[in-house]
Amino acid sequence: MKLENEDALDNLIICHECYTLHEEVPIRDGTKALCTKCGSVLYRYDTKLVDYGLALSIAGLIFFILANIFPLVKIELLGHEQFITIPKTFMALFENGFYVVGILCAFLIFIFPLMIFGINIVLFSLLKLEKEKAFTKDLLVLLAHIKPWSMSDIFLISILVALVKLIGYAQIHMGISFWTLILFVGIDLYLTKSIHISEIWMLRKRLFLAKESR
Ligand SMILES: [Zn+2]
Repeated sequence: MKLENEDALDNLIICHECYTLHEEVPIRDGTKALCTKCGSVLYRYDTKLVDYGLALSIAGLIFFILANIFPLVKIELLGHEQFITIPKTFMALFENGFYVVGILCAFLIFIFPLMIFGINIVLFSLLKLEKEKAFTKDLLVLLAHIKPWSMSDIFLISILVALVKLIGYAQIHMGISFWTLILFVGIDLYLTKSIHISEIWMLRKRLFLAKESR
């Protein structure tokens, strides 16, 4: 297929399952377009996704803040009590001179997850208001760059592994943050799985097209 210019690429969409190239056609709100060859979903157009994404992002941010304020676990060893919080885990690395690992850890388990949920809230709010066409594009590009670097899920699994190893040596009590972290990771995974960035990208295009044609 010969393309006249790069803009022509904007109207083409590839099936993620069988890699068949399709031309994008406008569809009604609440419907989805399927691949003609394998039947998998190519794209959806559902303006409700914006409300849905916004609600999940706000809930996720609240759980993330709670997960950082309260202790994750309380460890009792030989009469000594120690509370562990998320900020304490990377602050301990700094205190022991592991600056590079500390900075890396702070970005992966604190700064990036916080940024992603903050960006999501601003992005979905602007899409809902149908404002800031250029800025929402920049936010989506930034989101695509930092999303692979958010590792709260891996952090949660590593805590579980560490706790399993400590059982038998110390008494372990789960704190409020442990449960809120599980809820946060659950929302994070569900949001990533149910609303893909490419889907928000297309939704944004359609919303602004619809706004301009009004
Ligand atoms: Zn297909």
